[in-house]
Amino acid sequence: MNEFQNELPKELCLKCGKCNGNLPKDFFAEIPDNCGYEGWLFLKREEYKQKIRQLDENAILLNIKIKNAKSNTKRKKFEHALRKIQEQLEKYEQDYGNINF
Ligand SMILES: [Zn+2]
Repeated sequence: MNEFQNELPKELCLKCGKCNGNLPKDFFAEIPDNCGYEGWLFLKREEYKQKIRQLDENAILLNIKIKNAKSNTKRKKFEHALRKIQEQLEKYEQDYGNINF
């Protein structure tokens, strides 16, 4: 189970009559118009995009810091932090497929 499925409310839609209780399976799932999951999905998708953009920004900053590092120790520290971010991004890509906005 990924983060999305953990947070998914189970009975958000009881009225659209089209989703038949089929829950969206990720942030980018196609759902019927006026489905009760629409708003929730939109919100979660925006949160997800923000999270990815934040990671991208941090990666860019770290790359600059790596280039400008005055000592090996500092450079190694920044490289380590950058690797952590890249691992997080890879995990998101595996779980959700989409990390380019
Ligand atoms: Zn529905």
